[in-house]
Amino acid sequence: MKFQYIDTHAHVNFPEFDEDRDVVLRRALDEGVFVVNVGTDIESCRRAISTAEQYEEGVYAIVGIHPHEAMNLEKEGLIEQTLAELKEMAKHSKVIGIGECGLDFFKIEEYNEGVDVLKVKEVQEKLFRGQIDISITLDKPLMLHCRESYGETLEILYEYFGVQGVKLRGNAHFFAGSLEQAKAFIGCGFTISFTGVITFAKDYEVLIKDIPLQSILSETDCPYVAPVPFRGKRAEPVHVKLVVQKIAEIKGLSIEEVRGQIEKNVNQMFFG
Ligand SMILES: [Zn+2]
Ligand SMILES: [Zn+2]
Repeated sequence: MKFQYIDTHAHVNFPEFDEDRDVVLRRALDEGVFVVNVGTDIESCRRAISTAEQYEEGVYAIVGIHPHEAMNLEKEGLIEQTLAELKEMAKHSKVIGIGECGLDFFKIEEYNEGVDVLKVKEVQEKLFRGQIDISITLDKPLMLHCRESYGETLEILYEYFGVQGVKLRGNAHFFAGSLEQAKAFIGCGFTISFTGVITFAKDYEVLIKDIPLQSILSETDCPYVAPVPFRGKRAEPVHVKLVVQKIAEIKGLSIEEVRGQIEKNVNQMFFG
């Protein structure tokens, strides 16, 4: 597939874009930016698909259940049913991956007051493994969300990696781990993606310098974390150009080199 830029992890399916979803997506497409909208629960997955259906080319969906949803689903006894529903949705031709899914241990006690932390982790893991199974069965890559859980996530992935008949692959989105962890993900068949955060947080420079360009993807995670000079505003997919520009600047390469390699990387991962 030929494109100029791609936002591999956007949420134009979220309510923040209810008023102007089509305007935002047309603006992206007019500027040569393809968009992948990522679901976090059944409703946002449905909207990601119905949105993608409205464009002949350039708008795609990734469907999955965010780890933050795990305990609510567990309390209502809905995990199995949700995974079954997700699997059906994931068969759609505009769905190019499974996620965002993974483990999120950030402020886990605060977000789950009165619940045993081990129990929360266990339920998140169950939900995550269910989605790894869907990814493998349907042969669609994973879109990983990991927060303060890189080691634990890698341990789970190692169980699947290299198993005969299993083609484990995907992207670790909004990466904020160490270089060693990034290399471990790459070793398991994953790419690493960066958001607008890299335009204002210096701590990503070493990481971006050292991760091979062949393993890097661009994203915005919009409506969150708009890049400079849009900080504090609602981010949108066109901003991904600023992310690519920053990666080029940090790596000392031309924008065209970085853009072209990301196009190749995304084709290999999601449209191969
Ligand atoms: Zn995420
Ligand atoms: Zn996201």
